[in-house]
Amino acid sequence: GEALAVSARVAPLGSRLVLLLVEDLTEARRIEAVRRDFVANVSHELKTPVGALSLLSEAVMDASDDPEAVIRFAGRMQVESTRLTNLVQELIDLSRVQNDHPMQDAEPVAVDDLVNEAVDRCRSQANTKQITMASGPAPGLRVFGNRGQLAAALGNLVENAVNYSPSRTRVGIAGRRITAGGVNLVEISVTDQGIGIPERDRERIFERFYRVDPARSRATGGTGLGLSIVKHVAASHGGEVTVWSAEGQGSTFTLRLPEAAHPRRDGRDSKAPD
Ligand code: ADP
Repeated sequence: GEALAVSARVAPLGSRLVLLLVEDLTEARRIEAVRRDFVANVSHELKTPVGALSLLSEAVMDASDDPEAVIRFAGRMQVESTRLTNLVQELIDLSRVQNDHPMQDAEPVAVDDLVNEAVDRCRSQANTKQITMASGPAPGLRVFGNRGQLAAALGNLVENAVNYSPSRTRVGIAGRRITAGGVNLVEISVTDQGIGIPERDRERIFERFYRVDPARSRATGGTGLGLSIVKHVAASHGGEVTVWSAEGQGSTFTLRLPEAAHPRRDGRDSKAPD
């Protein structure tokens, strides 16, 4: 009886230790698999436009006596090279947000500036689709962080809102201050009336190269990297990004970031000790 009781007491502890070790190994394997998948995905995403460009250039040469065909092929070459440029740019952005220390060059950044920059970046595409972009002003609201990274993050959210919405809809961008656990945060939300995101995909859309509908994403010039950049920027700034969505109705992406302390009249930081 005694021996049994002892082993029963030891066994759970022992098995927990073994489990921890197994979990460690599993985690290491998982990271390795993610890395391998990433390299495979990058290669695939690069090969597709490069392959298309090579075929199209051959087609142009073969069609040298048919000017209309040449123009058509040249147009498609332009689409493919834009895709390639986008992909390379986003890979550079991703590697930057992963490797640069976000708080290097951190400064108070006006939310109004970030919103205006994001809206400008998407203006021509929104005009083409007759999408109204409505942003309420957020005077005095400032976040603390790396301006370039924050602009890239918000820009990606607004770009997606425009990309995944039908014509003649509305994209709203709003900033406000919230307090959570005694900490002041700035909440910037981007709301669209687009296609929405099925519940089963909602967790995974923040993964690199994950797309709900790969064909649709590629057709709009998507790389599948945007939201992974947003998530990384949010986390490295001590914030988060969340999504609410209803299929066929629209989505709201919300960025929560630490608020920058307000400067006092004497020019010193209000949070700095006296
Ligand atoms: P992509 O370059 O494909 O847009 P992202 O990482 O930005 O890559 O987004 C991942 C996927 O999440 C998209 O392919 C799309 O399926 C989905 N998605 C992102 N934003 C929205 C949105 N506002 N509405 C609907 N689906 C979205």
